[in-house]
Amino acid sequence: MTNNPWQRALAQLQKTLALQDAHIAVGKRLEEHDAVFEVNVPVLMDSGETKTFRGYRVQHNNLRGPYKGGLRFHPQVDLDEAKALAFWMTMKNALVGVPFGGGKGGIEVNPKELSPGELERLTRNFARELAHVIGPDTDVPAPDVGSTAQMMHWIADEYSKHVGEHSPAVVTGKPVEHGGSEGRTEATGYGGGYVLEAMLSKLNKEKGTVAIQGFGNVGVYFAHYVAARGFKIVALSDSKGGVYATEGIDVAAAEMYKKEKGTLAGFAGKDITNDDILALPVDILVPAALENALTKDNAARVQASIVLELANGPTTIEADDILSAKGVRVIPDILANAGGVVVSYFEWEQNRANEKWEKDAVLSKLKTMMETAAEKVWQEAEGKKISLRDAAYSVALHSLESVK
Ligand code: NAD
Repeated sequence: MTNNPWQRALAQLQKTLALQDAHIAVGKRLEEHDAVFEVNVPVLMDSGETKTFRGYRVQHNNLRGPYKGGLRFHPQVDLDEAKALAFWMTMKNALVGVPFGGGKGGIEVNPKELSPGELERLTRNFARELAHVIGPDTDVPAPDVGSTAQMMHWIADEYSKHVGEHSPAVVTGKPVEHGGSEGRTEATGYGGGYVLEAMLSKLNKEKGTVAIQGFGNVGVYFAHYVAARGFKIVALSDSKGGVYATEGIDVAAAEMYKKEKGTLAGFAGKDITNDDILALPVDILVPAALENALTKDNAARVQASIVLELANGPTTIEADDILSAKGVRVIPDILANAGGVVVSYFEWEQNRANEKWEKDAVLSKLKTMMETAAEKVWQEAEGKKISLRDAAYSVALHSLESVK
């Protein structure tokens, strides 16, 4: 089986359809994307030359509402990755019950290599090229790997000029002072924490030791949440490598260190590689970086009994089979990392109603929605004797079937 994320997403869809007792008519429609846009974005560089960057927006399905999903700024962005991520958004939104479909996009660029001015021109030009296909009622982008709240504000600003009116609801994940929601920054990490606690209580397991691969927006806030709840974080990593300390890691100090040095390497304990972090003797392993972290080559080395997928698509199909044969419980991405889109939905609602909700209210509504989704997935898995991943897809499919 290929590591191509879109082929993998399709295989998961077929597997879930095969598990159903009745015919699911919407299945066929989910195999195709509604629309795919590829654009070349010219940018005036600081040197005076003009460089062109390749960008994508993929609209998978809008049966449940406007397309919704992030824009990734990363050198490995490609169309099949965007197609898989858009499909996962359709399923995630259906699972947690927000009124959105699935979309995703991005630009092939390493944002760290651009100056702030170049990044702003790139984002604004990209927004102008997408302006005719996005909108608060059609397609609502958000941040993802390599994109930021500031960039969402630039997109909202360009789109507002395009339509001639203030339209903050065209994107979510904006800075709070520009129409963003309180709690959006924390949402994906905290949401993963709420789901983890709900599942641990179902599995009759205690809080334990945690290793987190990826220390960006999602990894950092998840780490803060679980550390405050009494879990012991023993390993963290980012793209340049990681650290392992059996006595536990101070998350705030690690965050500060990374801000200052740009890496976790050398922070505390022992330096480890990004592959070794996956094989540590911990209770809970949390891939929170990119796709295909767990593959057939390393899954057998996993010692954790729970994998909480905060990244999108971190486990290949072969790795999933290996983990399942070892008795590892995988809490799937479309459930574990749905907190971001739930608070994106709250942001969209606040923008449209011209309201501002308090952070406590946002997080408390988020917790309820994540626990409800976790409960549905658990019941489906127990009832049908299937994995949590198959159960999550099954719940999502039925939700889509009910509106087809
Ligand atoms: P981010 O850009 O803030 O952080 C990504 C982190 O991963 C960085 O620390 C980077 O150094 C690290 N990384 C990159 N390659 C790595 C590697 N090979 N090994 C270890 N670490 C590596 O991105 P993010 O927003 O935290 O997103 C992380 C994952 O969560 C992605 O898969 C994203 O699609 C998913 N996700 C994000 C959100 C959100 O709200 N931000 C919501 C749902 C899912």
